[in-house]
Amino acid sequence: MMPGGGLCFGVKRAVEAARNAPGPTAALGELAHNPKVMDDLRRAGVRIIESREDAGPDETVIVRSHGVAPEVMANLEANARDVIDATCPRVRRAQLAASRSAAEGWPVVVVGRASHPEVEGVVGYAGDATEVVSDAGEARRLPHRDRRAVVFQTTFDPSSVDEVLEALGSVTGELKVHDTLCTVVAHRRETVARLAEEVDAVVVVGGANSSNTAALAQVVKKAGTPVYCVERAKDLPMEGLGEYATLAVIGGTSTPWESLEEVAARLKGY
Ligand code: SF4
Repeated sequence: MMPGGGLCFGVKRAVEAARNAPGPTAALGELAHNPKVMDDLRRAGVRIIESREDAGPDETVIVRSHGVAPEVMANLEANARDVIDATCPRVRRAQLAASRSAAEGWPVVVVGRASHPEVEGVVGYAGDATEVVSDAGEARRLPHRDRRAVVFQTTFDPSSVDEVLEALGSVTGELKVHDTLCTVVAHRRETVARLAEEVDAVVVVGGANSSNTAALAQVVKKAGTPVYCVERAKDLPMEGLGEYATLAVIGGTSTPWESLEEVAARLKGY
């Protein structure tokens, strides 16, 4: 059995910023899509708020790794006691690519899930002509334009990039492509694809609402290997797992290392 994963550096940075913030602290949205991490933060006194208006005037507000649109940041800075910007540097790179391209006159197309907070934030930097597509089918249905700048959601599936670019190329005269994919996510997917070939079954550990954890499970399913998704060790369905000689345990980028160790320890004990 081989455990792999743990919080990525972007999420870890935001969680540490919240833990170390002075005085009353609120996080704008979940800092990690993981119940254990969020429970620990609540116990440490961090309040989770859903909108910028919920921030109290005496609170320090943490902007999570997904980042926010410029007007949200300005509003927070005007209303909260202090703001700690824990936008992941890789997300920041996507925001800057979008704002630079828009300033140079390139209409921007953001490739990702429109309702994802990271995409909402990047769109805020990308100017009025911005479009969002989630896959090649949507890209193909865009109107023709002479040129477009392309920015990817950092966690977009690397195996779909070529297909989306080909579709965008079919409706655009000139494309300027910014490689804004996160290598941590790409590497985690490559690892799980390799493990799925080597072991009898894979246990994916992570929050039920974590899309990158769900994406890891999809990679395993695609390889035809049995996959079990759990949030914590107590969720393991122990009966079925005894039949496998080798198991791999892997977590998404918002899964803390302790959760992986707990799961691995329970499986070893079994
Ligand atoms: S997955 Fe990548 S881009 Fe997203 S927070 Fe983690 S390191 Fe940053």
